[in-house]
Formats: sequence, structure tokens, C-alpha cells
Amino acid sequence: MTFGYACHYCGRTDGTPTRDHKVPKSAGGGWGANIIMSCKMCNMIKGSLKYEFFVSHFQPFLAENKEEYLAADADSLKEIKRWQRAFTLHLRRHLDLSHPLRPLHRKLKESRLQARRLAQENRERP
Ligand SMILES: [Zn+2]
Repeated sequence: MTFGYACHYCGRTDGTPTRDHKVPKSAGGGWGANIIMSCKMCNMIKGSLKYEFFVSHFQPFLAENKEEYLAADADSLKEIKRWQRAFTLHLRRHLDLSHPLRPLHRKLKESRLQARRLAQENRERP
């Protein structure tokens, strides 16, 4: 344990701390407030996901699994893989229900169907 270290994402104080860029260096992220300390597990689960996106989905995921997540060895690749899978499943489940594009797609589909129905009705009229 490093003095003063607590994972930015899960709050654990054990395991090997890693540095993470909120905004990736490749996207113009610099130093200072852009650098956060994260456990290896959170860092690897976040991967290349955008910071805001990751945090907004990881917080409810963590709330559901907090005790088990914090009890897992954050340096164990086997454990990291297990939690990566769990988070991917969580993300998939959540995005299926509330993907911002879903209602839009549905609306577009409905309006296409309606247009087709109207066209058909017009043709059927004598
Ligand atoms: Zn963490």
C-alpha cells in the first residue's frame, strides 16, 4: 500500500496504484487534475472508455457489488478478467434498456411504418 492512495473509482486502498488519464493523452489530456490514481482492476476495466461514460455506469455497478468487488484482489489478472466480464454484462444489460439512440430508432421505424400505411390506404381508395 502506498501512503495516501485510494482508488479514484472504487475507493480501495489496497493493491498496486496506477496512474490514469481522465482525458487520454491522445485526446489532448495533460497533467495535473487530469491524472488520477486508480487500482489496477478499475484501470483495466475502464480500458479506453471515456471517463464520464465509465463513471456513470461503473458507479451503479459498484453499488450493486461493492463488498465483493472490494474483497477481490485488485492485482490478480484472473480476478480482473472476471470483473471485466461482469462489468461488460452490466453495460450490455443497461445499454439495452436505456441506450440514448433506442427511442429515436423506434420513432423512426414507427414513422416509416405509418408512412407506408398511409400510402397503402391511399392506393386502396377508389
Ligand atoms: Zn478501483
